[in-house]
Amino acid sequence: MKEPTYVKPGIPVYSHRDGKGANRVRFLAWKDSLDFIRRLWIHPGLGACLNRNWNEPCPVCEEAKRQLDQGTGYRKLVREGLLLGKTPRILAQIIDRNDEETGVQIWDVAGSEIEIAIMNLSVHKEYGLIIPWTDPNYGYDLIYDYDSRSDDPKPRNLRRSWQSKLNKGLYDGVMDFDEEIINRLTHAELATICVARRPLK
Ligand SMILES: [Zn+2]
Repeated sequence: MKEPTYVKPGIPVYSHRDGKGANRVRFLAWKDSLDFIRRLWIHPGLGACLNRNWNEPCPVCEEAKRQLDQGTGYRKLVREGLLLGKTPRILAQIIDRNDEETGVQIWDVAGSEIEIAIMNLSVHKEYGLIIPWTDPNYGYDLIYDYDSRSDDPKPRNLRRSWQSKLNKGLYDGVMDFDEEIINRLTHAELATICVARRPLK
């Protein structure tokens, strides 16, 4: 898989494996946090949106607005990555239970639908308890199928494993989302990429 531009260079990004039940991952909480999932709005192929994520001026959004004012169609701008599409990215840090030696990797999937599926799996149906996904002793793994040949490849048939232990040493590799994972470009850097990939008309 090509490394996404919104993740810092050198950070390992998980590649989904093909087949039924071939993916089994344990979520780890972000450093100094209880959360294990983060939402990131991106301009596909360009980078993380400075406005939607951090409420700062974003050169890509500015360019989109300029083109909208000139009469360029909304859909065309979404297709070209200048306007944000409907789905943000969902990022988590995981241990691949089928390859634990690789250590902590970033799990990066398209937004909303997966987030809702995970939320639905996060409550125990009978007891109403919140599932402690990330606990080293009593945690659960997420298991899912993936078919890279489908028209819309994505994690499907998400389900919970039985409770299982995870080697505590693997938790030493946890990272901080904002400081260590996200490639947060400056306005000037993102503007340069935007101009290089899409010459201004
Ligand atoms: Zn933007």
